[in-house]
Amino acid sequence: MNTKIVLDEAQIPKQWYNIIPDMPGPLAPVVNPQTLQPVTPDDMLPIFPMSLIEQEMSPQRWIDIPDEVREIYRLWRPAPLYRARRLEQALGTPAKIYYKYEGVSPAGSHKPNTAIPQAYYNKQAGIRRLATETGAGQWGSSLALACSMFGLECTIYMVKVSCTQKPYRKSMMQLWGGTVIPSPSEFTNAGRTILAHDPDNLGSLGIAISEAVEDAATHDDTNYALGSVLNHVCLHQTVIGLEAKEQLAIAGDYPDVVIACCGGGSNFAGLSFPFIADRAAGKQVRCIAVEPASCPTLTKGVYAFDYGDTAKLAPIAMMYTLGHDFMPPGIHAGGLRYHGDSPLVSQLYNAGVIEAKAYKQNACFEGAILFARSEGIVPAPESSHALRCAIDEAVLAKEEGKEKTILFGLSGHGQLDMGAYDAYLSGSLEDYEYPEAKIKEALERLPKVQL
Ligand SMILES: *Cc1c(COP(=O)(O)O)cnc(C)c1O
Repeated sequence: MNTKIVLDEAQIPKQWYNIIPDMPGPLAPVVNPQTLQPVTPDDMLPIFPMSLIEQEMSPQRWIDIPDEVREIYRLWRPAPLYRARRLEQALGTPAKIYYKYEGVSPAGSHKPNTAIPQAYYNKQAGIRRLATETGAGQWGSSLALACSMFGLECTIYMVKVSCTQKPYRKSMMQLWGGTVIPSPSEFTNAGRTILAHDPDNLGSLGIAISEAVEDAATHDDTNYALGSVLNHVCLHQTVIGLEAKEQLAIAGDYPDVVIACCGGGSNFAGLSFPFIADRAAGKQVRCIAVEPASCPTLTKGVYAFDYGDTAKLAPIAMMYTLGHDFMPPGIHAGGLRYHGDSPLVSQLYNAGVIEAKAYKQNACFEGAILFARSEGIVPAPESSHALRCAIDEAVLAKEEGKEKTILFGLSGHGQLDMGAYDAYLSGSLEDYEYPEAKIKEALERLPKVQL
């Protein structure tokens, strides 16, 4: 029995799985922040190509992956599925643990799975430059990589505090030809407004999104690209789950539980949606989205219409949210710090189709160290949330004396996160739970949408 289950390049999926036709009920409309009326494709055209706008609302269950995109996917896909035998032994669990490893991509995470098609469709539409935001730097580096493959320019508004915390992510973006601008910046109205009130503002993902959207909306040759949250991003990420299903079939297995960490939700969507699709055929698989206790969007937020960004430029969506001016504490799982969540993931959670859990960061790093010492791979701090939950499920199986098949998403490696590991190993990593009172306060500023 193999440790790694690998597929041939010919087995890279030829289509993405679109969950929209299989959702429990109609989608809530996305709302224009100026008019407070549902957005039309015309509203989106200044910042997205038509092909992606169509995917955003497509009723088609299967959507062809362009050959040019599959050609680039071949550089690292299919990604390996591992059976975590050594972790199972370390835990003494009867459970079988599998993990799908997305850290083999050039940028070290799942994010190029959508960066590549987004760059491709924009190139097709005659766009010359993409603008985006990045928190910890994984998305910015993935988009810089994708733009370099298609000859596009790439401007990345990087949350200011991350520029100093993650200097090597910045270097990566630059070596792939991207231009990195610390956010809030003097280059946009959104940035200038914030700096006028608070010159030392360290930035947030919400502010950086405002700057990137404004840049794209005010330049004809420039579009905007988002690394998570949107339906088309979740769609592109389904290559993860589609491959994992094939690989588990080779191993003769099917998961009882599928676990992935959840920031904006695309990595969770990518792994879990193809399994959720099997529910129609009567397969009972639990899916758990895992988030940090310091940014507890699903577990402590509300399901409501909210702005996608701090400056209220991005569309309003029905989603779980902590409030669009939520300022997350500086935890190390930088990729999980968005105030909202994918509308698709939110709707599934609200309908009880999926579960959610929140973990504090010390518990996650403890799991990550055990994993690194048994399986060898250093997990990204984000991925360690899924890993921690998988460990708990495996320990529970041991306590209950039950067999169980667990699949979790190892969304990236943590080799550029040594600062975080240093903090954990030296005992200086603090746990932080976002205070209820602050959530309540932020929720008073939700938009009043009446349709
Ligand atoms: C960005 C990132 C995440 C969070 O992804 P979402 O799709 O926004 O939930 C998880 N893991 C890694 C390694 C990341 O880089």
